[in-house]
Amino acid sequence: METVAPLQEIIDVIKESGGEAFKLCYQCGLCDTVCPWNRVRSFSMRKLIREATFGLTEIESEEMWRCTTCGRCPQRCPRGVKIIESGVALRRISTEYGVFPAPVSAVRGISASLLGKGNPLSEDREKRADWAQGLSVKPFSEGMELLYFPGCYLCYDPRLKKVARATADILNRAGVDFGILGSKENCCGESIRKTGDEQVFKRLARENIKAFVDNGVKKILVSSPHCYHSFKNEYPEFMVHFEVVHISQYLCELIDTGRLALSGQYGKKVTYHDPCYLGRHNGIYDPPRDVLKKIPGLELIEMADSRQDSLCCGGGGGRIWMETVKGERFSDLRLAQAEAVGAEVLVTCCPYCITHFEESALTQPADEATQIMDITEIVREVI
Ligand code: SF4
Ligand code: SF4
Repeated sequence: METVAPLQEIIDVIKESGGEAFKLCYQCGLCDTVCPWNRVRSFSMRKLIREATFGLTEIESEEMWRCTTCGRCPQRCPRGVKIIESGVALRRISTEYGVFPAPVSAVRGISASLLGKGNPLSEDREKRADWAQGLSVKPFSEGMELLYFPGCYLCYDPRLKKVARATADILNRAGVDFGILGSKENCCGESIRKTGDEQVFKRLARENIKAFVDNGVKKILVSSPHCYHSFKNEYPEFMVHFEVVHISQYLCELIDTGRLALSGQYGKKVTYHDPCYLGRHNGIYDPPRDVLKKIPGLELIEMADSRQDSLCCGGGGGRIWMETVKGERFSDLRLAQAEAVGAEVLVTCCPYCITHFEESALTQPADEATQIMDITEIVREVI
């Protein structure tokens, strides 16, 4: 078994990274009973914690990279162990040594892309605003009502650009005075931080903060729960505070204040998936449901594992960039849950969830495939 040596180093790194709580663990194993991995294969966070306590972490194994930081197990831990923070601390050691097992090796290139181009997709910085071509979307200037920050996947991914475009259409229809930063926007850095790469996270955060301050940004509208989490809970570590609002909350506000009227019909059975970083990590469960309930004709049905028990799509914690073998994808299970309640449409509001659900939908028979939608795409159909 290859382990980090000297053992003291791993113990010190864990302590420095806030993982001192490891020593609270009394090995009850409750974390493992709720972990989604145990629905598809065996995985034990309890065992990882045990090994780390003695400095016996195998840094070449894929095990410490499995956690999607979904937030299920910290809810259940009777000892208040900072399970996610401690798992990320272990990854910091691997990242520092440059040791990545094969299914995780893409992370190395992702870091380079984030540093060089400001996004994980190796796309040109200059093309960051291309999604908005043909729409009336202005560059942000001081005094505007809000900055719209679509995030990397909505700026570049062909499927997710449709979500950015739907969002801009809705904002324009509601008469919102908004702008974008385009090539001045960088990845928020949330996911690379969860792979243990603090340096890249800090650089991205500082560049974004500089762009926000230089441009007089006060309020930021985001599409991704990962950007939301980062701006709201992590950027204050740099002594800055911006008002951050997720699109699901903002849609509610636009509808409630009469700025956005829902006049069309959406006669379908819809189920809503709570993204981990919107629900469990930030407590936003009702606004997306409230929006869906206001859509004429839409029948909202709850599937198993909703709200705080939501089943992770598998994309958090940097796993969006890692290989998950067939038969072990949580998103396949989620689609089966949507199907089980008779939903025609699985709606959510996170780019990682949509990416994984679209991949899983491809494995369904073409005439029975569940339709995957972002909440903005449904709203745009009825305004
Ligand atoms: S639930 Fe908490 S105390 Fe129990 S094994 Fe997991 S980390 Fe340890
Ligand atoms: S945070 Fe989620 S994926 Fe990670 S160990 Fe806990 S339950 Fe499993």
